[in-house]
Amino acid sequence: MSPSAITIALAGNPNSGKTTIFNNMTGAHQKVGNWPGVTVEKKEGRLQRQGIELRIVDLPGTYSLTPFSIEEIVARNFVLEEHPDVVIDIIDASNLERSLYLATQLREIDCRVLFALNMADMAQARGMKIDAEKLSELLDVPVVFTVGNRGEGVEELLDRAIELARQPFREPKGRRVRYSPDIESAIERVQRRLIENGNGRLPYAPRWTAVKLLENDAVVREKVVAALETPELRETLESLIHEERAYIEDRYDDDPEIVMTDERYGFIAGIVKEVVSLSTRKRVDISRNIDRVLTNRFLGFPIFIFLIWAMFELTYSVGEIPKGWIEAGVDILKTLFERQLADGWFKDLVVNGIISGVGSVVVFLPNILILFLCISLFEDTGYMARAAFLMDKIMHMVGLHGKSFIPMLMGFGCNVPAIMAARTLESEKDRILTIMITPFMSCSARLPIYIVIAGAFFADKAGTVIFGIYLIGILLSILTGRLLRTTLLRGQDAPFVMELPPYRVPMMKSVLIHMWERSKMFLKKMGNVILIGSIIVWALSAFPRMPQPPIESTDIGQKAMVQAVNPEADRDIAERAEAQRKILQTEQSYMGRIGKWIEPVFLPIGIDWRGSVALMSGFVAKEIVVSTLGILYAYGDNTDAEALSRTLAASGMTKLSALSFMVFVLIYVPCLATVAAIRRETGSARWMIFSMVYSSLMAWIIAFLVYQTGRWMGF
Ligand code: GDP
Ligand code: MG
Repeated sequence: MSPSAITIALAGNPNSGKTTIFNNMTGAHQKVGNWPGVTVEKKEGRLQRQGIELRIVDLPGTYSLTPFSIEEIVARNFVLEEHPDVVIDIIDASNLERSLYLATQLREIDCRVLFALNMADMAQARGMKIDAEKLSELLDVPVVFTVGNRGEGVEELLDRAIELARQPFREPKGRRVRYSPDIESAIERVQRRLIENGNGRLPYAPRWTAVKLLENDAVVREKVVAALETPELRETLESLIHEERAYIEDRYDDDPEIVMTDERYGFIAGIVKEVVSLSTRKRVDISRNIDRVLTNRFLGFPIFIFLIWAMFELTYSVGEIPKGWIEAGVDILKTLFERQLADGWFKDLVVNGIISGVGSVVVFLPNILILFLCISLFEDTGYMARAAFLMDKIMHMVGLHGKSFIPMLMGFGCNVPAIMAARTLESEKDRILTIMITPFMSCSARLPIYIVIAGAFFADKAGTVIFGIYLIGILLSILTGRLLRTTLLRGQDAPFVMELPPYRVPMMKSVLIHMWERSKMFLKKMGNVILIGSIIVWALSAFPRMPQPPIESTDIGQKAMVQAVNPEADRDIAERAEAQRKILQTEQSYMGRIGKWIEPVFLPIGIDWRGSVALMSGFVAKEIVVSTLGILYAYGDNTDAEALSRTLAASGMTKLSALSFMVFVLIYVPCLATVAAIRRETGSARWMIFSMVYSSLMAWIIAFLVYQTGRWMGF
């Protein structure tokens, strides 16, 4: 048999190297889209080999095939319903035990399976010697060693896959999971009933179906029940399952699915014992030793707080250096255009609208790069999972578990992917709750606002003040979580085992790529949202136009004459007059009018009309707040961040109102993109509106408390 086209699916745990191997196989011939109906990314690629057209599909990373999360459902459905010719399970060889859970499940489905023992280099470095031949023999599945990031073994993998696809399917003969006698007999009974009543129309293999039914797999049950011919048959099957589950539960005093999972792990432990030999006693498991310190009951939490604090300190202080260079560049650009363009609204648009607006945000690129670098490092070293582990207790106070903390921590980068990361949570209530509290994790777009304001008012304590703002966000999300858990989203937190993957020395290249991919979004935003937002804000502040005062006279000759008499005094007067004109212009502009109109709402929290307008513009994207402040306060000759800081301080903003402003920015309605993500991921406009109203109210109340308490205390 020689097919002309073969579909190969790549399955495996998250981070097992699937995408790396996929990229190796397909090169540039990729198509990225979504799986139908859900927003899980689907990658597909094609290549020719031995005259056969190969279609490769990168399945979402999963630890099992139990349909708990969307990823698991997508991966399982693809294997079960679309019948790929071969499924390659990418196994993390350095973490064999955990990877084999999925592997053994795949092997029990009717499909041709091939194992890639990836991360072979890591396994070796950790002193593990894996007997691939033995593994292949025990489980009756072909096995190939690969090192994904070096492309080793990928060619062989493809050849073996083609070879396998050419053979007719046969059930693997090797060892399979044997459950304890009570369970086996229950499986037996259900299986027999299925064969008797199925009339040859069962969608899946009987034993596998029986196991799934006993595990209360709703998806399988629905399909199997639908396949039965009469209502009586359906009913007897349902009651048999119910009976058998009760029987197991009675015997083990636990849910059948838990008992069976335990037994599967037992089976896997046996396999691992047989195929892995530790070549040296070197396996003083490094990860475990590191964890003794990093997840220590007493040290773990302080270390975690320190690392997060260090992240912000680094972001703020090291970022200042390259930020200065970019600022200088923006200034040069501005001077250039100022000289080249003729006076008038167009010059004003280019210099004060576009260059100042976009420039005032783009200078924060270094800070944001550093923040993303830190987050990528946390992720790639495996520390992120420890953070989740440490937060588990605290998260339980909210009624969530540590797993929810990963989306929250990612929220420090950008709320949009963070909200999407909540998809990995199994229960819908957990998911919605996590989505509701994630926006309080202060995203990187809000960081420039803090840097400008804290820099202006708190000077060398700025890093610590910013850290404090982030802490307020965390506290607020905990309180909100508690509140929702006891009201709208009442329920139990789902039981779950915290996965602690081994520590890894991160590969610089992959860390940099992760950092870059995230920062790209920031740069893209510069080109569209921020640019357009800056132009709109500029237009609102520049129109209707005030008549030009005489001091702006273009009569250079006259100016030169006055200057010749007293150059210093004249420049001073001219500058002050120009500043006056700009203030008047802004006050008279549409934006000034809008600001004055909403000012009463913001005055009790110490924010004047300019701040109010800036905050409103922040709904489009938080970065625009900075550029709006830039435009509104820019009556010096300079709109760079430092000048803005000075101007802010000079314009009547006090330490207290600055604090209130930052608190408000932290809490109030997230940006448009985040709001849209909330809508999409909760599938409900009501949750979106709830989040918008709730956060804005909270922001006002807390800023009010900060401001009024501060005043009362005499600040
Ligand atoms: P996926 O989540 O399964 O798609 O995993 P990725 O393909 O994104 O890989 C996760 C990380 O493991 C990346 O940093 C890869 O560069 C790295 N990686 C992949 N294969 C290997 C390997 O064989 N050895 C080592 N040391 N690293 C690998
Ligand atoms: Mg991947």
